[in-house]
Amino acid sequence: MTEPSALEAAITFAELKLAPELVRAVSELGYSVPTPIQKEAIPLVLAGRDLLAQAQTGTGKTAAFALPLLHQIKPHANTSTSPARHPVRALVLAPTRELAIQVHESVVAYAKHLPLRSTVVYGGVNMNEQEAALRAGVEVLVATPGRLLDHAGNKMTLLNQVQFLVLDEADRMLDMGFLPDLKRILALLPKTRQTLLFSATFDEPITRLANSFLRDPLKVEVARKNTAAETVEQVVHKVAEDDKIDALIRVVRARELPQALVFTRTKIAADKLARRLQRRGLEVAAIHGDKTQIDRLQALEGFKQGKIKLLVATDIAARGIDIAELPCVVNFELPYSPEDYVHRIGRTGRAGASGLAISLVSSEEDKLLAGVERFISRDLAITPLPSLAPPPPPVRAAAPTPAAVTADAGYRRGRQTQPVCALFLPPVKPESETPS
Ligand code: AMP
Repeated sequence: MTEPSALEAAITFAELKLAPELVRAVSELGYSVPTPIQKEAIPLVLAGRDLLAQAQTGTGKTAAFALPLLHQIKPHANTSTSPARHPVRALVLAPTRELAIQVHESVVAYAKHLPLRSTVVYGGVNMNEQEAALRAGVEVLVATPGRLLDHAGNKMTLLNQVQFLVLDEADRMLDMGFLPDLKRILALLPKTRQTLLFSATFDEPITRLANSFLRDPLKVEVARKNTAAETVEQVVHKVAEDDKIDALIRVVRARELPQALVFTRTKIAADKLARRLQRRGLEVAAIHGDKTQIDRLQALEGFKQGKIKLLVATDIAARGIDIAELPCVVNFELPYSPEDYVHRIGRTGRAGASGLAISLVSSEEDKLLAGVERFISRDLAITPLPSLAPPPPPVRAAAPTPAAVTADAGYRRGRQTQPVCALFLPPVKPESETPS
C-alpha cells in the first residue's frame, strides 16, 4: 500500500511543497530536514489520501500530520472576527490531556505565520474558557474525546464542517476504552473528509478501527525496527532469574547510572521488584495501570526531581510517558512482543541522543531474545556483567578540605537543579470518566 516513489525525492521541507509560511515556521524551530515519517506522510496527506501511520511519539509525527493539514486549510485563513468564518476544519483527537496540550503547542508553533486559529479542549478543568474559544471560532481543534463530546453535546454545528480528522495515538485511545466515544464523535463528522490514524502498533483492534473509519488508506511505517536500535547502545547480560536483582544493582552501581527506567512484564512483577529494591536501600517507585493517579504523579514527580533513582514500569504504563534525556532503560524482563522491546529502548536516546538499553536475560528468555534479534535484524552480543570497583578505603572523620566541600556542593547543586528527566503523565482513566 505504501507509495515509495512519492517519498524518496523530498529532502527539505520546501521540496515537500509546503506553504512558505510553514517552511519558515519549521526552520525557525530549528528543523533542518524532515524526519522519515514526515518525508513519508506529508506528500500523501497533501495528495488527499487517508493514512494509517505507524509512528511513536518522538518520531516527529505531530508535524507529519499538522503541517500538511495546515497547508490545506491555509486557503481558508482569514482575519475576520466573525465566528462563522472560523469553523472547525481540522479535528485532532488525542488520548490524554498532556498529549493534547503538546500537539496544540506544536500546531500553534507551525501556524505561527498563518492567520489560522486553534485551541485545545480536555477534561478535568472548567469548560467556560474552552467554550469561549470555541464560540469565537477555530480552524484547528485538538481535543480529548470525552471533553469534546461534552462540548459537542448541544451544538451539532461544532463539527459539521470538519474536513480533516486525526486520531493520534489511536492504540492508546483504544487501550483507554475510548472506542464508544470515538464512534459517537465520528457520527457527528461529515462523511466526506480526510482521516489520518497514527498508532504505535498495528494490531487487530487498530486494523478494525481503520477499516471502519478510513477510506482506502495508505499505510506508512517509519523504519520502526531500527530507529531506536541505531542510536541506542544495547547491552545484554545473561543472568539466572534469581540473580537478576543483584545484577541490576551491580549494573547501576558499576555504571554509576544516575537514573533508569526498569521494565517488567506485569504489574505484579513491577510491584514485587520495586519492593525488593526498596528493601535493598534504593530509591525506587513503580508505575502501572493499577496505581492511583496520585501514586503515579508522585512517582513521576520524584523521578523527575532525581529523588527516585529507579522507576519500575510496565509497558502500558510507560507508553504515554514522554521522557527527555533518559540515560538508561533496563529490561529486567524481556517483553513477549519484540515491538515492545523497540518501544522500550526508544525511551532512551531520543532525538538522536545516545542512549543505553540493558537487558537482563535469563535462559528462560532465550526465545524472546532471539525474537528481538530477528525483529531488529541484528544480533545482540552478550556481555559479562560489569565488575564493581572495590569499595573505597574507610576514611577517618576529618574536617573536609575546601576543595572537597566545593566539589560535593557542586554535585549536590547539579543533582537538585538539573532534573535528569522531563516526564508527562498520562491519566490512568479515560477522560470521559473524569467529572468535569
Ligand atoms: P513528535 O514525535 O511529534 O512528538 O516530535 C518529537 C520532537 O521532535 C518534538 O520536540 C519536535 O519538535 C521535534 N521535531 C519534529 N520534527 C522535527 C524535524 N524535522 N527536525 C527536528 N526536530 C523535529
